[in-house]
This record gives sequence, C-alpha cells and structure tokens, in this order.
Amino acid sequence: MDAQTFLTDFHHVAAIGATPAGGVDRQAATAEDKQTRDWFAAFAADRGWPVRVDTIGNMFALIEWTPGADFVLVGSHLDSQPLGGRFDGAYGVIAALHAADRLADRAGRGEPAPRYNLAVVNWFNEEGGRFAPSIMGSSVFAGLMDEEAMLRVTDLDGTTVRDALDAIGYRGTDPRPTAAAYAEIHIEQGRVLEREGIELGAVDRSWYTQKLDIEVVGEQSHTGATAMADRRDALVAASKVVVLVHDVTTEFEPESIVSSVGHLTLEPNSPIVVPRRVHLVADIRASSPAFVQQARALLLERISRVAHDHSLTINVTDFDVRPVQTFPQRSLEVTEKVAASLGIGVRRINTMAGHDSVAMNRIVPALMMFIPSIDGVSHCERELSSDEQMAIGVDALTAAAWELLHGELDGHGPAKAADGTP
Ligand SMILES: [Zn+2]
Repeated sequence: MDAQTFLTDFHHVAAIGATPAGGVDRQAATAEDKQTRDWFAAFAADRGWPVRVDTIGNMFALIEWTPGADFVLVGSHLDSQPLGGRFDGAYGVIAALHAADRLADRAGRGEPAPRYNLAVVNWFNEEGGRFAPSIMGSSVFAGLMDEEAMLRVTDLDGTTVRDALDAIGYRGTDPRPTAAAYAEIHIEQGRVLEREGIELGAVDRSWYTQKLDIEVVGEQSHTGATAMADRRDALVAASKVVVLVHDVTTEFEPESIVSSVGHLTLEPNSPIVVPRRVHLVADIRASSPAFVQQARALLLERISRVAHDHSLTINVTDFDVRPVQTFPQRSLEVTEKVAASLGIGVRRINTMAGHDSVAMNRIVPALMMFIPSIDGVSHCERELSSDEQMAIGVDALTAAAWELLHGELDGHGPAKAADGTP
C-alpha cells in the first residue's frame, strides 16, 4: 500500500455527498452517511475483515491476530456538518483503514503477533449537526452518555436517532470490541501547524467547553397593528444576546477564548408576526476553565439586563460542560518518536475542538495527532489539507498504531481531567 492508494480512496469518498463548492454534506444517519458506511464496510470485506455495528451505529472493522486479546481502536468519524468540509473526520477514518492494511501486511510477514488486535472505527454522529449532542457514538461507547437517551434524541423534523439509524440499516446488535488503547488522526482545524511549518501535532490537552441554552420569551403580536412601545420582540432581544456572546471574548487575551451562537430557531417565524420565542445555543470554549466561567458570569448579568430592558423573560441553562482533558504524557512521546523516525517536524498542541479521542481518553490511554489545515478553516466547504500532508499523516498513524499494538501505552492512562473528574 502506498500514498497513492490512500489518496485515491480519500478523493473517492470526498465525492460522496459532495457539494458544489468542494465540501461534503453527510450528516449523521442520512442517505449520504449510509453511502460512506457502505464504502467502509466494502473496504473491510475486500480484505476479509469482519465488521461489527453496535447499538448506537458505531462501526468496527476487526483484524484479529490473537483470539481473545483486547483491541487497539484507531479511527474517527465519516459524518459531516451541513455544507461541511471533506477532511474533518473522513481523513482520520480512511487513514486508519490504510494504516490497518499496512499493519496487517507487516504483521503477516513472519513477525510475532502484536499483543493486541486492531479495530478500525467509524464513530456515529461526531458532528452533532443533525442530532445534538456531538461526539455521541464514542461517548456512548465510553459510558459518558446514556444510550437509551441518545436513541431518543430528535432532529429538527422530529426523527429520532433510533429511527434514522434503522432507516439506513445501521442500528446494529453486535457486541463492542473491548478497547485497550485508542489512536486518532485529524486535521488541526486551526492555523498553528501551518504558521510554524510543522507537519505533525501531538495533542496534549483539550479546551474547557460549555454551552448555554438560551430561551428568549417575548409576546406574539401583529407586526402592523401593534404600537412600537407595546412590542415585546423576542428576536430583537435575542439579537442583542448574539452580539453579547460574540463580544465578551474581546475582554480576554487574544486567542485564549472563543464564543459564538451557532443555533437559533424563531417562533412563529411568520413575516407579519412579532416573534414570541427564540431559542439559541451559545458555545464557549477556552484553554482555561476560569476564562469560560468569567465569560459566563458576565453574559448572565448582561443577558438579564437585556431581559429587563425589553420587558421579557430570558431563561439560561448550562449544558454540555466538558472539562479539560489531558492526554497521557506517554502518548505524546510516542508521537514524537514516530515523527523523529519519519524525519518530520512535530510540536505539542491543544485541541480547541472536541473529538472522539477526548471521549475515549476517559476510559483508555489515547493518542491524537493533527496534520496542518490550510488557512485554519473548518466546518465549511473551504476546509483543505494537501495530499502531501495527508500522506505524511498516514505514515505517522501507521507507525504510532504499531507502537500501541505492542502495548506502548499500557499503564499510561486514562488521564484524569484537570478538575479531578475521571
Ligand atoms: Zn472531526
């Protein structure tokens, strides 16, 4: 297997759900998601690897050298954001399949069998665009989210995860492989590696993140007949909240905190009705929990002032709080050793985005690598990494997975969260 074989597969999968501006639209459990899943299953079947599908739609392609041994899991996710990029997630799954192919080859060449078996994984619904919360499949696997509750989650049309998975034939019944360690490669989605001209990132910790569920409750009235003084316009107040959520970041050091409203629904959403209710979700993330907590406190105070000024109610609820996770020191050393052996540059780097690896790091030692993202853009059609950068990453993932298969991370995790929760 060479770089060209990988690149051919990568660009083939990028055509599934392709959008006119070079991205993909393959939200979880859609027809396009099914097509990439079928491709994954066919890749495994071609090589005689059995595929298991668990009860939340995670897929595992198994390579067993030692019957009964635990598995090193390597993978990422094939689902995308609406009008998302073709690299986020898909790169990591396809890289893992090709790494597995090379490792199967290597292990078959008379070397003693590795300590662990290998499973390439495609996690269900990492993106959370259609079904919130994100990182769903790996979090259920890790016991961090309740499976029955997740199967009941609905999209905006009222379709449940359970029904959507059934509709594409990917709500399985297979047992999950027992994990000994986890490895994932992903695009950086920021501009640190590109700015510094470094090929590989060794992810050392994740950012602290939390969301605010914000409900603005005004009063429905006629856009023509109601006097301006009598309007309690939920959208006007919500608009001010959106700006507050954005502007609060300017009160912190540059690049230390990010914050946006990414979800908004409006009721009744009629051209001749003053809106009665707006539902928003704000997403706040920072390298330090204290920054998020300070921003949250400022926002709560300012939002209550908006509610007062507009004579309406704004309910704010915390949810999806994700503490800082540190990856095992040993996994950073493995990535650095691999980079040295390949003669490429490496640096330690935080992840601002959430990843399946962050969930897996709670239960087994996990290793995560980044390759550069051109212009740092992600979750959009403009997302880009070069063929050369991707090929180097596949080499690095292959070498790292080999180390893990031989127990290199045994006894080195899982890491404790910085706030002390396991
Ligand atoms: Zn991703």
